[in-house]
Amino acid sequence: MIEIIGLSKKELEAEIALMGEKSFRAKQVWQWLYFRGVKSFDEMTNLSKELRQKLANRFQITRPQIVAEQISRDKTHKWLLEFADGERVEMVYIPEDDRGAVCISTQVGCAMGCRFCHTGSQKLTRNLTAGEIVSQFMVARDAYGEWPSPTHETRYLSNIVVMGMGEPLQNLENVCQALNILTDNEGIAISRRRITMSTSGIAPQILPALQATGVRLAVSLHAPNNELRSQIMPINKRYPIEQVLEACKAYQAGDGSRYITFEYLLLDGVNDTPDCARQLILLMKKYALRASFNLIPFNPWPGCAFKPSKPESIATFARILENAGYAAPVRVPRGQDILAACGQLKSLKTNA
Ligand code: SF4
Repeated sequence: MIEIIGLSKKELEAEIALMGEKSFRAKQVWQWLYFRGVKSFDEMTNLSKELRQKLANRFQITRPQIVAEQISRDKTHKWLLEFADGERVEMVYIPEDDRGAVCISTQVGCAMGCRFCHTGSQKLTRNLTAGEIVSQFMVARDAYGEWPSPTHETRYLSNIVVMGMGEPLQNLENVCQALNILTDNEGIAISRRRITMSTSGIAPQILPALQATGVRLAVSLHAPNNELRSQIMPINKRYPIEQVLEACKAYQAGDGSRYITFEYLLLDGVNDTPDCARQLILLMKKYALRASFNLIPFNPWPGCAFKPSKPESIATFARILENAGYAAPVRVPRGQDILAACGQLKSLKTNA
């Protein structure tokens, strides 16, 4: 059986042609899968019974299984999802008033080993396939009844952040294929401008990834100099800050609309001093980057070595950046009454 979720449009057309069917049948199947969100070929009622049977003999339509689910008081919704081989990842929906972002994963575990990250303490098991990346979002749409695809104005699941488990640039081919499916206008139709891909800084892949996908870029910076960044993000030894920011500069060259968000997790006494904020400003000016910061209060997890910054340190840090002309909103902690740190739900269920 071939898994149909995750095939590119071209691959689906080729499969349908192999079955001796006309190419418009591929378009119909695509719309049933990604516009209407059906879970069986039987529901594809504008296809003949015979064709539906032929499709069912050749393909399967799979969603990951929901192993656990938590909804916090602020409506943050977290799922632990299991794929056919038993591997598990997390997905989170973070609602605002009339819209919200779904945070999806790209790998099982992560090889980057960022010291503040719970997922980083779970070794990389494998890359997710394009179908496994797309089907996470489809599970979220199932939960909120967003089939057929609502218009941009009326949908709750309006944005996607590729910021869950894993480093997306280490699984670029599958991520690109998944994003092409998620953004296709005849299906799920999430605008590329509403998708943000976050990287820990795989410098040589940044430009190719963004050229291939056309989505927005977020960089997990978390420190203003190499010494500090290498301590908390081992990947920095391989791709130091200069290389990452050069890649960001190349991304912005010639297109004034490309803003970059730098994610900055505030760790008490580690990277949250006024001096760190000033160093960050110097870095931005040195590379002439059009940037904003997303300041993230740390959400501690059992066994981690860091503590959250004090509110007054966070406020001072934000003010220094803002006074220099950079937007630096402090992310409101979400889902605090559930296992909110990425990777926590997975390890709880694995250890249970
Ligand atoms: S922060 Fe991202 S890149 Fe770093 S270990 Fe966690 S999942 Fe991997």
